[in-house]
Amino acid sequence: MSKYEYDFESFKIGDWEVAFGNLYENVDEHRKPEEFWNSVMAHLSATGEAIRKTHYTDLVQSLSHAFCWLCGYIVKCQENKDPIFQFENGLSEIVALKFPDKCGHCLKRKCVCDSIVKDKLKDKSARYADLYKLWQKNGKWKERTIENWLQKYWYTFGPRIHLQNLENLGFHLLEEAGEEAKAVRQLVQLRGTRNNKKTGVSDDFLEKIANIDKLVEQYDIYNKIIKDKYNVNSVKKVDIEKISTDHSPEIIQARLVDAKMDFIIEIADTFSWMCAVLLKVREIYENQQLLTNPEQVVNILEKSLSIKIQATFGKEAIQEQLAFSVHLEKRLQETFKYDGRKADGMPKPLTCYACKKQKCVCVFFPNLNDDR
Ligand SMILES: [Zn+2]
Ligand SMILES: [Zn+2]
Repeated sequence: MSKYEYDFESFKIGDWEVAFGNLYENVDEHRKPEEFWNSVMAHLSATGEAIRKTHYTDLVQSLSHAFCWLCGYIVKCQENKDPIFQFENGLSEIVALKFPDKCGHCLKRKCVCDSIVKDKLKDKSARYADLYKLWQKNGKWKERTIENWLQKYWYTFGPRIHLQNLENLGFHLLEEAGEEAKAVRQLVQLRGTRNNKKTGVSDDFLEKIANIDKLVEQYDIYNKIIKDKYNVNSVKKVDIEKISTDHSPEIIQARLVDAKMDFIIEIADTFSWMCAVLLKVREIYENQQLLTNPEQVVNILEKSLSIKIQATFGKEAIQEQLAFSVHLEKRLQETFKYDGRKADGMPKPLTCYACKKQKCVCVFFPNLNDDR
């Protein structure tokens, strides 16, 4: 995938989080965490539509908006305005818990999963403990850029991505986004348990599941509690009627711990399948020889733009423009008017694509005054 690495200044994912957090600070203050995921899903549905239409530039555009909302979601959860959703780690660290440069299932650097048997090998708690050990070994997850992740995924899952068509990968992406929506629903449903003496869900308890180190530990503890009570190794294996009518504090807490683990694992999976879709689009561009025969692509890029670029800058400029048209970070920089870096290396303030301000003033919601 080397041809996509040229001449491009990539940002750490954490820098994107900070930049989007600043840009949308004033409007995001009024939003609940679940509203962010709703917006991620809205843009991913546009990704699905773009796949159906084989419109690859629209596809990357919708992924850039989904990524922006994903960053907003992470920043919102880090703020600690809603202790049920509170989570300290950034996106890159969350992704790395599920994919510590190895497949999250077979734990190999090049995935060799037998997808039929993979879930039968170990209970999830043991698997998360294994993944956590690998996660701890590398302290530099925060340094990762989108491009770094794309390269790692290609190494681990490239042969699998190569075998699947774009529709399959897109379908899986939407599946994972829906799984995150399920985790969000669980957390929203359990929001009322907070500070209720009968549940034991104090803010001290919630603090114990608000970062990766503590959550992995609590997940193991609560799995043992569930195992002892119901003789199963996961909250999901308890009969739904039993668990929804069991209001004992330890079971309510176990459901919260389980939902919180799903909340981060499904964020990781959604990001990963975004990467898989992006890698497939790159593969399609390469295999169609669009990059070596740019004359074929005038219908993909805007015709007038292609001709103008070719006339002014030659064939190579079109090749570059094409590669960038499926380059997520380049698209992010164009959409949000990236204007270079400050002295500290962070991006200068971004600009909202809709209101054109560096502190967004877009108001899409009706109840600015309601105190949430
Ligand atoms: Zn694997
Ligand atoms: Zn705006």
